[in-house]
Amino acid sequence: MSESVSELEFDLFVIGAGSGGVRAARMSAQFGAKVGIAEEYRIGGTCVIRGCVPKKLLVYASQYGTGFEEAKGYGWSADNLRFDWSKLIAAKDAEIGRLSGIYRRNLGKAGVEVFEERAELLGEGRVKLVKSGRVIAAKKILIATGGTPRLLGFVGEELTISSNEVFHLEKLPKKFLIAGGGYIACEFASIFAGLGVETSLIYRRDTVLRGFDDDLRTHIHQELINHGIKVITNASISAVSKQGEQLSVDLDNDEQMLVDQVMMAIGRIPAVGGLGLDMAGIEVSRSGAIKVDEFGQTSASGVFALGDVTDRINLTPVAIREGAAFADTEFGNVRHSFDHQHVASAVFTSPPAASVGLSEEDARKEFGEIDIYKDIFRPMRHVLSGAKEKYLMKLVVRASDNVVIGVHLVSDAAPEIIQVAAVAVKAGLTKDQWDQTCAVHPTAAEELVLMREKFQG
Ligand code: NDP
Repeated sequence: MSESVSELEFDLFVIGAGSGGVRAARMSAQFGAKVGIAEEYRIGGTCVIRGCVPKKLLVYASQYGTGFEEAKGYGWSADNLRFDWSKLIAAKDAEIGRLSGIYRRNLGKAGVEVFEERAELLGEGRVKLVKSGRVIAAKKILIATGGTPRLLGFVGEELTISSNEVFHLEKLPKKFLIAGGGYIACEFASIFAGLGVETSLIYRRDTVLRGFDDDLRTHIHQELINHGIKVITNASISAVSKQGEQLSVDLDNDEQMLVDQVMMAIGRIPAVGGLGLDMAGIEVSRSGAIKVDEFGQTSASGVFALGDVTDRINLTPVAIREGAAFADTEFGNVRHSFDHQHVASAVFTSPPAASVGLSEEDARKEFGEIDIYKDIFRPMRHVLSGAKEKYLMKLVVRASDNVVIGVHLVSDAAPEIIQVAAVAVKAGLTKDQWDQTCAVHPTAAEELVLMREKFQG
């Protein structure tokens, strides 16, 4: 193998310039390591290029539609409203281009050498750059290739899109069908409904957002319906075919639909295809995720992995923290690993949901006796707006020591509130300590320190 090894030798070579890979590369270089990074698509990865960031911009765009409507209750009139999808996409593309540029510049400033091409493992500390054919030798290799949309393999699936393509649709569909009941499906159903698109969501079970607290799930499920989304449950797509300009969709409940676009959002799988894991002796789990220990060490010496490709908690801030812990440990002489407990997350639906800690169900399983405090109420904002939207505030408290071990919210500010609630849950504060905190009035969040009555189920 030595014949084609180039002069390029690195202390660390990172495959994948997404959130986790970039953080690990920059920090390692700042510690003095010679670092290279390869990216086959665009610097920034899923979060920046076709995930969290552009999604959030679309969420903002979608909120104006209902916002104008609700403003009428406050005396505003907004006539002749028009929405231009291509303007939004152009503005979004400009912002994503700007951010990707910043990521690239920051890598450069830290002294990381960037290779904009696909890289594959050759084993024995070597990586091949596919386009240029160069071979790189690295003392340590970090795999941070992320995930890729799951496919089902039904007839006509190639006519559907995934969250990769949804950001580049040339025109706004009139009728849109989204398959799945997780983060991506629920968020995009809210986005397109908010933009005035006739939106349907098809989910194989009965209530969306499996894995979240049941109260939050039923609340969001109902809010999707209240926001005009047709939610089809206990059904899946079995085939898609072209019918003129539209798509004819066969469902496994024998129904048929005619829509303009179908988006599959049925989960993401680790992006390991063709990476050469076998060649490098790297073990994967049954789901195809790279097996790692708490320090990101794979089964192959000198090869590490982090982020979605390890399929632990597939969230950007988690990958970033795993990347930082890796750099500290391997190049910064501070050995530590990221603690995956108490990671908060938000689902940017309308209204959004957010959670940290255990669901009521999981808490009961783990600790037995649990106290629940919850309130479902119409927020002050909607008294005049006329919107039917309701908020949910729920605390899960361990009865034995009164510690708040779960917080589950549905409210316009839920993703913002949960960040601070996560501090309290991580710190292990008791319900009494929450209650000693004075309310901020008038807010929806004040409910979190005002709920005194245990919920009797
Ligand atoms: P999720 O894992 O959240 O949801 C996948 C959905 O697809 C589930 O409803 C699942 O159903 C369904 N599904 C899985 N397999 C099949 C199948 N064979 N047929 C029909 N339905 C199926 O994945 P997403 O794609 O929504 O998102 C991927 C990941 O990205 C998330 O897990 C999350 O970590 C991250 N993400 C985070 C966001 C945020 O923080 N706001 C936003 C977007 C993504 P079932 O419940 O029955 O398993």
